[in-house]
Parts: sequence; structure tokens; C-alpha cells
Amino acid sequence: MATTSKIEWTEQTWNPTVGCTKVSPGCKFCYAEVMAQRLEAMGTPGYENGFQLTILPNRLLEPLKRKVPTVYFVNSMSDLFHEDVPFSYIDKVFEVIIQASQHTFQILTKRSARMAEYFEGKKAPKNAWIGVSVEDKKYGVPRIDDLRKIDAHIRFLSVEPLLEDVGQLDLSNIHWVIVGGESGRNARPMKAEWAESIRDQCKESGVAFFFKQWGGWGVDGKKRAKKYNGRELNGRTWDDMPDMSASV
Ligand code: SF4
Repeated sequence: MATTSKIEWTEQTWNPTVGCTKVSPGCKFCYAEVMAQRLEAMGTPGYENGFQLTILPNRLLEPLKRKVPTVYFVNSMSDLFHEDVPFSYIDKVFEVIIQASQHTFQILTKRSARMAEYFEGKKAPKNAWIGVSVEDKKYGVPRIDDLRKIDAHIRFLSVEPLLEDVGQLDLSNIHWVIVGGESGRNARPMKAEWAESIRDQCKESGVAFFFKQWGGWGVDGKKRAKKYNGRELNGRTWDDMPDMSASV
């Protein structure tokens, strides 16, 4: 089922697969896991296997039914490049993306090596923005090099949950960076200087910067509900989107 999203940088979600397995520290308090268990308990179609990776071909055609141009986040409840999703199924997802040319599709993975393998010798459709999660130095930062290998119109980083100072990043051929702190009951804190460093690097490199949220911890280092911590960094919001005329 495609649903309207509360995620600040997208409009709708489309989950042609659901479920996943954890691969790195950013997965520790995975929102999708908690949500999948809840949906399973409620008997929601598609979640009969809880958080186990499940391919849902009956959802493939959903974006084709919607005529209004829409920004879709693909697989908010899964990872399209999970090792249990065959390349033949990923081909089907991209066939729909190509056909649904009125929409924009944001695809984000932590399985960057598998994504780079999938795209070897292929170009991503122009309406597909391709991204990787970058939560830390050890697991997140190396994904950026995999992403750079992909021939895509828009390549982006989701630096969320930002778990540490990720240091100097190579932002060459990256078009958009989203930064956010972790939310949820067990959220780990983010420091302002970690986010500021990434913002400054984006500015130097001419990369669009989007500050999504503080999450569960505020700029003052206090834990409270996400909505009270807001999404201002240094007294303002940062909502840049990638330049659609960017060339590869
Ligand atoms: S890759 Fe994403 S969906 Fe999968 S477990 Fe990690 S955070 Fe959750």
C-alpha cells in the first residue's frame, strides 16, 4: 500500500518489499522493525511475516495508478538491495519507475555494494534518486564511494541517525545531503557540531543540504519528544533540495 509520509523530505512511501535484517549501528533501533511488528499484530496485509524480508509483487503497480506527480520514498519499511531480493525483482521495480515517469522515486540503501553491483553497466532512470545511509565512519562513510560508482542523475546521502562526527567527507558527485538525529524511545544523541560540520562541507562543495530533525535529543543536550526539539540548526531551517538540472 502506498501511503502519505510524515518524512520531511518525501511525499509518499511505496513498499514493494517489506522487512529487513540489521547490518550496521544505524539499524539498532530500526523504526521499520517496530512498525512492522505493530502492523503484524494489527493484521495489516503485507505484514503477515512481521519484519521478515517479504517480496510483495501485488504492490508493484501502485505508483502507476497515481497520476498526480508525486515524490515517492521507495521501501521505507525495507531495503530494496537486501540480499534476499533477487535482481530480477529489482528489475521489475525499476520497470515501474521508468513507466511512472510523472513521479520521482527516492531509493535509499545500506547495502551499497549490492546496489553498485546491480547498477554495473546500467544507468539509473532519470526520475530515480539514488542514495546511501551514512550513520558513522566505519560503516556509513565507505558507502559513499559505492554510491559514486552509480550512473544516476541525483545521488544523495541520508546522514541519519548521525551517531558521531563523520569527519571530512568526499562529496564529489554527490547532489544532496540530509542530516538528522535519531528519534524514538532509545534515541542516541547528536551533537550540533557534527551536523554543522556536514552543513559547512556541503556549502563548500556546492551540495544541497537538508536538516531533517534533531530527533529525541535537543540542541541543548536534553532528551524530550521529537516535536519539541524541532528542526532548526543555528536558528534556521535548512530545506535545500537537489538541483534537478544536475548532470552526471
Ligand atoms: S537497513 Fe534500514 S530497514 Fe533494514 S534494518 Fe537497517 S534501518 Fe532497518
